[in-house]
Amino acid sequence: MNSSALSYTFSQRAQKLTGSAIREILKITVRPEIISFAGGLPAPKGFPTEAINRAYDRVLAQMGPVALQYGPTEGYAPLRAWVAEDLKRSGAHDISVDEVLIVSGSQQALDMLGKLFVDPGSKVLVEAPSYLGALQSFSLFEPTYVPAPTDEGGLIPEGLTDERVKDARFIYALPNFQNPTGLTLSLARRQALVERCAAVGLPIIEDDPYGDLRYAGEALPGLLGLGRAAGATVIRLGTFSKVLAPGLRLGYIAAPKDIISKLVQIKQATDLHTASITQMAVYEVVKDGFLGTHLPTVRELYKQQCTYMLDAMATHFPATATWTRPEGGMFIWVTLPAHIDSTELLARAIQKNVAFVPGAPFYTDEDAPKNTMRLSFVTVSEAKIREGVAVLGQLIKES
Ligand code: PMP
Repeated sequence: MNSSALSYTFSQRAQKLTGSAIREILKITVRPEIISFAGGLPAPKGFPTEAINRAYDRVLAQMGPVALQYGPTEGYAPLRAWVAEDLKRSGAHDISVDEVLIVSGSQQALDMLGKLFVDPGSKVLVEAPSYLGALQSFSLFEPTYVPAPTDEGGLIPEGLTDERVKDARFIYALPNFQNPTGLTLSLARRQALVERCAAVGLPIIEDDPYGDLRYAGEALPGLLGLGRAAGATVIRLGTFSKVLAPGLRLGYIAAPKDIISKLVQIKQATDLHTASITQMAVYEVVKDGFLGTHLPTVRELYKQQCTYMLDAMATHFPATATWTRPEGGMFIWVTLPAHIDSTELLARAIQKNVAFVPGAPFYTDEDAPKNTMRLSFVTVSEAKIREGVAVLGQLIKES
C-alpha cells in the first residue's frame, strides 16, 4: 500500500515503464563543470532568433486572431504546402498537400505511429542500434522488437529475411547521419531497402531530422521518393528542430492519404492541433527561401565541431578503439575494445567531469554489445572537446 493518503492504480502499460539508470547518471551532466558529450541538443548558435522574433511579430500584427485561435488538426495549409514543395529537395516530387500532416515535433509523430500500428506483441523492426526516443515511444504500445542487422554502412537490406519481416508492422529507419551512430545509408542500400520492403509489403518509417545538416559528401535521395517509385509504403518524418530550433516543437509527417487520415484522428485526440501561432511564424520564416542562406551557416558550424572532435580522438584515443566519421548531423559512435563496459567507463568519466551516453540502451536485445558509446559534439567548445576527449582517451587506455 502507498504510505500517502492518496490511492491510485496505474495502467498496466504505465506500470511496465521503468526509469533508466543511465538517465539518472546523466542528470548530473547539467552541472557546469561537466564536459558533456551526452546531450542530443542542437547548438544554440544555430538558432535564428531574430528571424523567428520578426516572424512572430508579423504574424501577431497581421493575423493575430487566426494565430491565437484553434486551427485545423492537419495543420496550417500554407505550411503544409511549403513542406510538400520542399520535399522535392529529398527527391519526393509528387507529394500533395493532403499527404502532409503537421505535428508537434517528430517525437509526437513517433508516439502517434506507435498508436496507429502497434498492438501488444506486434513485430516492429528497428535498426540495431536505433534512436532511443523512438524505442521509448513505441515501447508504450508493447511491441516485440526485431533488430535489423547493421554494419559500418548502416542497415543491411539483405538482413530483412522472410522470417524477420513476416507479419512485422513496420521498419523504423534513419538513413542520414543516424542517431546514435552517425552512419549514412548508401544509395545502393536505400534502393535495395525500398525494393525489399515493396516486395514484402513492409511499411517504412523514415525518420530524417538531420538530412539538411550534411557537411560532407553528396546528398542522397530520401526513402520517401525512392519508395514511391518502387511501390513501397513510406512514412517520412521531418522536423524544424535541427534546421531552426527544437523549442518550436514543430515537425511533419508525409505519408499516403489513408495513413494521414488515421493519424489526423489520432492527433485530434492527442492535442487537437499543433500551435497555430508557431506554424504561422515558422511559415513566415521559411516561405521566401530563408533556409537557403541559414542552413549553410549551421552546416559550417557542425562541420567545424565535428572536425574538432575527430582531431582530438585521433590524438587521444588508442588504436584499439574505432569510430564513425559522420558526413552530417551531431553524433559519433565509438566501439571500444570488447572487454570495456562503457557504462562502467561512464561512472569513471563522470568522476573526472566528462559525460557521454553508453551504447547499450540504443539496442533492443538484451545481449547487446556493452563496449560502444555515443558522443555528441555540437554544443561543446573546441577547448572543452579537446580536454574531454583527452580524459576519455586516458580512461580507455587505463581500462
Ligand atoms: N528522431 C530522431 C532520430 C532524433 O534524434 C530526434 C531528436 N533528438 C527526434 C526524432 C525528435 O525530434 P523533434 O524535436 O522533432 O521531436
